Amino acid sequence: MSVERFGFVFRDDSAVSQAVAERDLRALSPSYTRSYGLVATHGSGARLWDEEENEYIDFAAGIAVLSTGFGHPRVVEAIQHQSAAMVHLGGTDFFYRAQVEIAEYLQRIVPIKNANTPEDKLVYLGNSGTESIEAALKLARYKGGNNGKRKEIIAFYGSFHGRTYGALSLTASKAVQRAEYPYIPGGVVHVPYPSKFAYTRSAHKESIEFNPVRYIRDYVFKKARPDEIAAVVVEAIQGEGGYVVPTDSFLPELRALCDEYGILMICDEIQAGIGRTGKWFAFEHWGIQPDIVCTAKGLGSGMPIGAIIAHKDVMSRWIPGAHASTFGGNLVSCRAAVATLQVIETENLMDNARTVGDFALRRLAELQAQFPVIKRAEGIGLMIGVEFADADGKPIPKFRDEVVDQCFLEGLVTLACGTSTIRICPALVITEAEMAQGLEIFAGAIAKALAKTSESEAPHLTSPTRRALIIDDEPEYQTIARRVIQEFDQETQIELAENYEEAARMLDIHSQRYDFVILDSSLTEDATDRKGLDLLRTLRTHRTANGTVIIVYSATLSIADYRALIEEGIIHTLIAKDEAQATDHLLDALGRFLGQAAPVAVK
Ligand SMILES: *Cc1c(COP(=O)(O)O)cnc(C)c1O
Repeated sequence: MSVERFGFVFRDDSAVSQAVAERDLRALSPSYTRSYGLVATHGSGARLWDEEENEYIDFAAGIAVLSTGFGHPRVVEAIQHQSAAMVHLGGTDFFYRAQVEIAEYLQRIVPIKNANTPEDKLVYLGNSGTESIEAALKLARYKGGNNGKRKEIIAFYGSFHGRTYGALSLTASKAVQRAEYPYIPGGVVHVPYPSKFAYTRSAHKESIEFNPVRYIRDYVFKKARPDEIAAVVVEAIQGEGGYVVPTDSFLPELRALCDEYGILMICDEIQAGIGRTGKWFAFEHWGIQPDIVCTAKGLGSGMPIGAIIAHKDVMSRWIPGAHASTFGGNLVSCRAAVATLQVIETENLMDNARTVGDFALRRLAELQAQFPVIKRAEGIGLMIGVEFADADGKPIPKFRDEVVDQCFLEGLVTLACGTSTIRICPALVITEAEMAQGLEIFAGAIAKALAKTSESEAPHLTSPTRRALIIDDEPEYQTIARRVIQEFDQETQIELAENYEEAARMLDIHSQRYDFVILDSSLTEDATDRKGLDLLRTLRTHRTANGTVIIVYSATLSIADYRALIEEGIIHTLIAKDEAQATDHLLDALGRFLGQAAPVAVK
């Protein structure tokens, strides 16, 4: 039996996963975007298991990171061997065979403009995607590029390039990623990214949103002279932005523009690269060669490593000390990366990505015919986005989240991206049988999510779901409150806390947002009790931050006892719980505060 706790769905009503999640939420930063209550313990290939030994097919691969899957023997061996020999000495200061081997491998496989031999390219090693972007930005702007005055960067709306300050200046995927951060470095112009899907369906193909290169010529060049622009940073397929494939002409036209004005073309292959699309790098599908390539995610099969590869004429501008990182090119990570690339080559995983990816797209086309709620199923190789929309074509993120939850409950790990999309980016070792099995679960999850939607007959697909928290230890009153809330709004998602500690915990998790909280007065009866006061303070914060409606119902206290609390603005209303019409009062209160007429009383 699945349960919902702390705002997340859990597969079993079992203590272990929930206990881990609860401790996590009390110990770790609230900035993580967890989707559901998966507490994973181990994996193998494209499958993984949780604390309760439930098995899952994994369509997410740790955000396209586990390229060779969980526990590939050759990768494990490389990690074990190197970690026993030496983990670190400092890539900034000494020489190592492991770093040389991964650099030479990348010199061989990464296509770079005007580099005719591997030795025409140079490699910089870091620890993550965002560091690859930082390195590329710093390199492109170093000494103002080839003419000394290049500093401006062009990036694209919908793109995600990382979260450190420099990379963040390029990221324009979700507003929350940039919001509230002062002093994000400037000198970046964002232009539209042309979605092929939107383009093929649009009646306005000449629209500027599909012609970013014209946009750059007509608008950006009026603000920044072409010889002041250091680089264009682009994802060949947008990842976090929603797995968006660009129009056919986009990358070649962008390459031509860069050539014309001496602007560096930086391809962010952090998500799409390392064999995922059936070629080493996604940009290869459009026959272009960048000046700088950024890679990370899939490179180390889960070991942290990032790299940038550039023409030696470009990277040789750097002098010793111009850029480095203590952990960059960690020896264990380098060994894991070499093993990863070898496995991808020797086991023909790029062919596998193509065939299993094509199989998935065919099956998804069938599902699309069956479920019109699927607006788009698009991608290359094992980088596929499935986007949902309502009958008007509008995004339906809530519904998408419901599908994600249902997948999880049925044994399929997925992750969302974009506004209304689920990404399919499994390990490159996934078999066709596993893909088929995963897509059956996926289809079942869509059916379940649709059934849940129509059961309620509410405009679920368009209106946001309300959330309520009932804080009460008496089952009788829990039931009343629950029925009242449901009578008022069927769609409201109701959560329950039985005592102070639980309530405080649920309200304490910063990402939680409740539209209303109904609580038993006995929990706040003694205002001198520290716990009671703490709870009220937390409630006040919630009310201020979220506009939460707080209703206290009391069996024992008079309004007078609560006047101070009401006057302080902590509580909206007080209801006599043991009155015969208590439920009517509750309904009235809800109706008043939500600005709607209350429905008839619960029978
Ligand atoms: C994930 C990602 C990054 C950032 O990588 P981190 O390792 O999380 O810093 C940058 N660009 C793209 C395209 C990504 O998908």
